[in-house]
Amino acid sequence: MIRIVFWAALIYIAFWAWRRFKAPARQSAKPRAQADEHAPAMVRCANCGVHLLQTRALQQDGDWYCTQPHLQEGPRPRAR
Ligand SMILES: [Zn+2]
Repeated sequence: MIRIVFWAALIYIAFWAWRRFKAPARQSAKPRAQADEHAPAMVRCANCGVHLLQTRALQQDGDWYCTQPHLQEGPRPRAR
């Protein structure tokens, strides 16, 4: 009887060690994919040139704008 328990424990430990050994490779690949996915994309307002998050920007005709008034004014060449 003790032999069966011994082998069951051995198999369990081997399985656990195998999972632990496999996990780091999967963990190192996953955060990078998540970082790429959740990295906030920055866009530049075509009117005033301010940089803001794409999620908060307004898009029109392929240009991004920070606010509704700037969107209505439209793109403006940067004064530099
Ligand atoms: Zn703007």
